[in-house]
Amino acid sequence: MTKFPSVDKTQVTKPADFNLRVVPLGGCDHTGALNMMMLETPHEILVIDAGLGFPEEDMLGVDYMIPDISYLKEHKAKLKGILITHGHLDHYGALPHFLKELDNPPVYSTAFARELILQRLKEFKLDQEANLILAEKGKSFSVGNLKVLYIHTNHSIPDTASIAIDTPEGVVYFSGDFKFDETPEKEAPADKEVLLKLQKRGVALLVSDSLNSEIPGRSVSERVINHTFQEIFAKAKKRLIVAAFASNMNRFQQIVDAAQAHHRKIFLTGRSLIQNFKITQKLGYLKLPKDLLVNIKSVDHYQDEEILILATGSQGEDYAALTRIAAGTHLDVKIKKGDTVVLSSSIIPGNELSVQRSVNSLGKMGAHIVQNNILAVHTSGHGCQEDKLLLLKFLQPRYFLPYHGEFYFRNLHAELAEKGGFPEQHIFMLNDGDALEFRQKQAYLHKEAVKIGRQVVEGTRISDEGSWVLRERQIMAEEGIVVLVYKINKTNRKLLGAPKLFSKGFIYQEESQSLPRIFSQEAKRIYEEVVTKNGQRPQKEIIHEIRSTMQKVIRKKLDKEPIVLPVIIEI
Ligand SMILES: [Zn+2]
Ligand SMILES: [Zn+2]
Repeated sequence: MTKFPSVDKTQVTKPADFNLRVVPLGGCDHTGALNMMMLETPHEILVIDAGLGFPEEDMLGVDYMIPDISYLKEHKAKLKGILITHGHLDHYGALPHFLKELDNPPVYSTAFARELILQRLKEFKLDQEANLILAEKGKSFSVGNLKVLYIHTNHSIPDTASIAIDTPEGVVYFSGDFKFDETPEKEAPADKEVLLKLQKRGVALLVSDSLNSEIPGRSVSERVINHTFQEIFAKAKKRLIVAAFASNMNRFQQIVDAAQAHHRKIFLTGRSLIQNFKITQKLGYLKLPKDLLVNIKSVDHYQDEEILILATGSQGEDYAALTRIAAGTHLDVKIKKGDTVVLSSSIIPGNELSVQRSVNSLGKMGAHIVQNNILAVHTSGHGCQEDKLLLLKFLQPRYFLPYHGEFYFRNLHAELAEKGGFPEQHIFMLNDGDALEFRQKQAYLHKEAVKIGRQVVEGTRISDEGSWVLRERQIMAEEGIVVLVYKINKTNRKLLGAPKLFSKGFIYQEESQSLPRIFSQEAKRIYEEVVTKNGQRPQKEIIHEIRSTMQKVIRKKLDKEPIVLPVIIEI
């Protein structure tokens, strides 16, 4: 490694002005989802990736999370383009939620990602006005005053790119998701020549993928997986069912080739899989002989040894094809004794239970299961420790910013770089919203330079994470809800009969006889007390007081804090 001038990071202050700054708008938390980086100069802003994130367990009813783009909205005029590295949702999925708000800036991407983005925009009826531009790898182009270069790299989806941007402070290199596969299937190894060229020009900053930082060595090559599949095909006597990530098309190409060699027809099940087969065939990426693909509806017309079923649902996702097969609810595929089911993917943390559930019921139905812990049927798209060090060695950047992943992985990545000889003072750990600012080739850490909240999407609505609605839902799920209906006389405000009580989720069956009666009596007492104290009080205040008193009563009796909703009907 080159020698670096020493920098005391504890001394860094905000420079009066910056020539360049790089700010993660998302991606420094939430297991590496919500990837979004902002590169800003005095004249322009470029955004690298616009990913969404899937909700955590306590975020009930939330479909997904998206990065906060308030800063981009305020500086719309400076925004020259959004550069997408590849077609995974954690890198492009948030686009439909703010393209319009940002006045449809140009969105650059490679061909496969572009098709996937287009599909997603179509779902939101935004495809017409969007400005999608094809970025060709290896050919630099201008965005604003900056030169951008897409660089071929290996990952788990075709057409993945790293992005290098020429700035007055030097090259800023965004690795995106990457690994170095010397023997990849159906694509070239990552372009290393260009890395050396960039090194010569001077790389100011490397922003590099931290996922898999805990795994020593090099990532397993796709070729190894290919060998395993050859073996599985050779051994399987009955039907073969393979589930993998629907976007892992190079993997599917290997499987398609094996199917052809072993005289099996291919049956697809799962919407995203069918869509991706169409796109990659259209782009000429997937070589699929004409009569190899057969509609799943006619699967029963074929002999077992002629059948290969490709399915979505390797993560045990609700409603995905393999999940339905495992539950016995798939319309066209019922498991038969002797079927071989291959799960060609890693389990995303959090999905262990649902995958195990699928595997168990498939096994009970008589299927033979092959998973990665038995045979090498999957390799990750993210490089291991040696892959990461290799990138640092190729680029020799002045500064290094671990990115994509929770703090734990980013920190391991930082330690790894340090052990590899990269000076600790030149490694920056950022939170979302922190800026790494450059002036005269020096980097400064500017804490909380951009205010960041996170936004959640529920159906078509976008709101702030941590909003009361979410907290309310959580309370409802854990503590239940009580609705108290009071009928009162309009003129004298006296109760007309005992209040009615409806509850959900906090009274157990054995208590269900006595408790509602007790609470109803309490509700009556509370109302009378509140109204006798001051009958002229506005209804809002009365409701508020009933609610808080009732909550106390319930807490005392049941140690529960349900949501209490008093409703007063004047007759
Ligand atoms: Zn990815
Ligand atoms: Zn990713």
